[in-house]
Amino acid sequence: MAKFDYAPAPESRDIVTIRPSYGLFIGGEFTHGTDGRAFKTISPATEEVLAEVTEAGPADVDRAVAAARAAYQRTWAGMPPKDRAKYLYRIARIVQERARELAVLESLDNGKPIRESRDVDIPLAAAHFFYHAGWADKLEYAGFGPAPGPLGVAGQVIPWNFPLLMLAWKIAPALACGNTVVLKPAETTPLTALTFAEICQQADLPPGVVNIVTGAGETGRALVTHPGVDKVAFTGSTEVGKEIARALAGTGKRLTLELGGKAANIVFEDAPIDQAVEGIVNGIFFNQGHVCCAGSRLLVQESVYDQVLASLRRRLRTLRLGDPLDKNTDVGAINSAAQLAKIRELSDAGEAEGARRWSPPCELPVKGFWFPPTVFTGVSQAHRIAREEIFGPVLSVLTFRTPAEAVEKANNTPYGLSAGVWTEKGSLILWMAARLRAGVVWANTFNKFDPSSPFGGYKESGYGREGGRHGLEAYLDV
Ligand code: NDP
Repeated sequence: MAKFDYAPAPESRDIVTIRPSYGLFIGGEFTHGTDGRAFKTISPATEEVLAEVTEAGPADVDRAVAAARAAYQRTWAGMPPKDRAKYLYRIARIVQERARELAVLESLDNGKPIRESRDVDIPLAAAHFFYHAGWADKLEYAGFGPAPGPLGVAGQVIPWNFPLLMLAWKIAPALACGNTVVLKPAETTPLTALTFAEICQQADLPPGVVNIVTGAGETGRALVTHPGVDKVAFTGSTEVGKEIARALAGTGKRLTLELGGKAANIVFEDAPIDQAVEGIVNGIFFNQGHVCCAGSRLLVQESVYDQVLASLRRRLRTLRLGDPLDKNTDVGAINSAAQLAKIRELSDAGEAEGARRWSPPCELPVKGFWFPPTVFTGVSQAHRIAREEIFGPVLSVLTFRTPAEAVEKANNTPYGLSAGVWTEKGSLILWMAARLRAGVVWANTFNKFDPSSPFGGYKESGYGREGGRHGLEAYLDV
């Protein structure tokens, strides 16, 4: 029992107006779906139905791609780059102005704590538009030749873990480089993308430059395989990424894939332990562990194992799980019943295979989808919880003795998206970074994102980079 408890500090929902139903955003307007199909989006924290959303069929995807093509040919590709930049700046400013509304909506639809949507997702989404607005009229200096041109229509499919932020990662560079887009948000989190459609209207963005089609996997499939799409950008599971790569092989379409991960967060004996523990917590419990680059495998040097685990357990007892709209909440709801089932299945497999499971005492709400912060010790590299992406608040702890062993274990995964290294020695950081097969290596920090910094994977974590100068290349004909 804590010495004192926090009073609830819920963020008000009043700032958000959710419509009872949403159409598709095609050619600058909300339109009905051709075959009248719809699905519901719910709050994963309460299972309350938030809105009904249109399910786009192949004919709708066709219309959206045609609208994007027309806008590409008539206005966007030929527009002076400095004018394209003005639209991107305008969008960035409106995202900032409507930040509180977007944060509340994101937390309602996704289940993530308001602290995270308010301080991470929405500010970073605005930052991506600001950053790419800056690039729009400087592409000839980006190092891709004297006159790099756009590719055409981009088909973009994004997941549910950072709905508006992933939208920004996809739309901002595409537009800055002169492409138009058709984007499909995830089935469980369409609401901030649909509000973004309103923002495009508010910014007077020419009709058809951004089109949003809602739906499930079938809609995504129709979009990425559409013959009118020149470039596909996908973030999601490795399984679907492979399917898309197979479908696009030989079509000449450009493809970038940002897929799963099983990152190692490596703590050496000379690391500042308290700081490292904060980094471990942030690495795996931020966003309920629904993070492709989550530090889901903790590698601790044997000599400090007891100390790190004791500190970690102490720290986890202070995490507050519950209402995503409460400003004191650290761990929110799991995004869907399906994802909760997957986390449960893998955690049960961890126990069945012999690892030891521990969670701090914590009461789970009765309604909604919830899973407590969980730590597995006694994990071997062969266990499923050390190999498979759980995409939930579950940490697998392994140990090592030497830097070489740490590298060997960290790289022993089909993935390669990120890694973390905690040590006081700069030389050891550089030595590790040169050997870790991961797109991003964080040193004495974790889960740090910036629009100027490229992000992407090795091996089954995908290919191509998003963000920074490197990310522009994916949207340019170079
Ligand atoms: P998916 O890969 O299925 O979903 C990602 C996006 O792709 C969603 O918009 C989805 O639509 C869409 N989609 C699904 N099938 C197709 C298809 N055949 N063609 C084109 N688009 C498609 O991930 P899930 O949501 O099913 O999550 C499953 C697992 O994937 C998680 O448990 C996690 O391990 C991993 N994952 C990894 C992410 C990452 O960032 N690396 C992000 C999300 C998940 P819809 O939402 O309607 O299904």
